Amino acid sequence: MKRRDIVKGLPLLPLMGGITAGGLFPSGALFGENSTPRSNIPDYFEELGITRVINAAATMTYLSGSLMLPEVLEAVTATAHDFADMHELQDKVGAKIAEMLHCEAAIVTSGAACALVLGTAAAITGTDENKRKQIPNLPGPRPEVIMQKKHRYVFDQAITTTGAKIVEVENAVDMEKAINERTVMALFFNAATSWYGGEDSIGHEEFIAICKRHHIPTFIDAAADVPPVENLFKYQKMGFDMVTFSGGKMIRGPQSAGLLFGRKDLIEAAKLNHSPYEAPIGRPMKVNKEEIFGMYAALKTYLQRDHKKEWREWLRRTSSIKHILTEVSGVRTKVYIPEGRANVFPSLDVYWDKKDIFIEPKEVYEKLKNGNPSIVTSLATRNSREVLNVGVVLLKPEQVDIVANTVKEILKQG
Ligand SMILES: *Cc1c(COP(=O)(O)O)cnc(C)c1O
Repeated sequence: MKRRDIVKGLPLLPLMGGITAGGLFPSGALFGENSTPRSNIPDYFEELGITRVINAAATMTYLSGSLMLPEVLEAVTATAHDFADMHELQDKVGAKIAEMLHCEAAIVTSGAACALVLGTAAAITGTDENKRKQIPNLPGPRPEVIMQKKHRYVFDQAITTTGAKIVEVENAVDMEKAINERTVMALFFNAATSWYGGEDSIGHEEFIAICKRHHIPTFIDAAADVPPVENLFKYQKMGFDMVTFSGGKMIRGPQSAGLLFGRKDLIEAAKLNHSPYEAPIGRPMKVNKEEIFGMYAALKTYLQRDHKKEWREWLRRTSSIKHILTEVSGVRTKVYIPEGRANVFPSLDVYWDKKDIFIEPKEVYEKLKNGNPSIVTSLATRNSREVLNVGVVLLKPEQVDIVANTVKEILKQG
């Protein structure tokens, strides 16, 4: 039966009597549409002319982040056939995640950027319903969030989305002085040193200590900071009140999901600022039921994974690509593992002798991207020299050789 037949038939149902919701929509056959044989699933990439991309870069949002693990896809499809009370779902999934991450409370957000909005909103409103209805337009002076000047970054717009103002400090003395009755929170951008180089002006421990003295909640953005898996436990243990990680990066959950976890009162206040409530600032940042289940499945799978084995596989891929590329004379490679706190996993830098191969890294990058298949790599600067960087962690096993051979062909012709 087609959906429109059922809809047409609906007004008649009461006359038929005795039909329960369960009887009308037997599980697994909602609207009679789920019986489509799997072989009939259209190739939507093809149908819409969307290019399939081989991701030899990193978990970039514009490249759709990550690929969900099979366990995540299973969780999404297995839970799609029944309704759930979203409050109960967030509460119970949150409690389980909190238990897994050894913290008081957690929620699934629509990404780390959403977690930044909700965490800040929570710090501003607490459980005050009026404030929840008013942000980002609270009367009076704007609430203030303290950040180290060196930590300012593109994602801090999520903070000011709540109506808060960012107050920049340069050192610990500055920070103490900046705290006043309008201060609602202090934000630590964990990967600032990876993005910009140098050191934090105020280290984690000191940052937390200052805030604890003044009873100011602390929030750390560690969105892209697994691996190592230990980071999922590290920052709450250090004493940060709120922590966020992206779900759609190396944890390999849904791209539009993320985690916000930490102190119970703040997480409860964050929930009040989020969907399924109608009014608050987080309402446009809804996470659907399947993504909540999917994020839970992703985290569970991530924590159970053999991370050492996975790391060895990544290294094996870099050496397999190296062997293929260095068949071209003048080509050299080097495994690159960032020293900072974000995106810490191996990739392969590719160099070549300009005497033998005339093509520039940028041209190789473009050729790969515009080729068939389309392969997206990265351009990196090492010792003020531009190099082609080939990522391995997001490749499907069969793509490792495809990437290596395609790069090899371009270099051979160059
Ligand atoms: C990716 C990222 C974000 C945004 O995360 P989403 O899950 O895409 O919302 C925020 N902060 C940092 C440092 C990031 O790397």
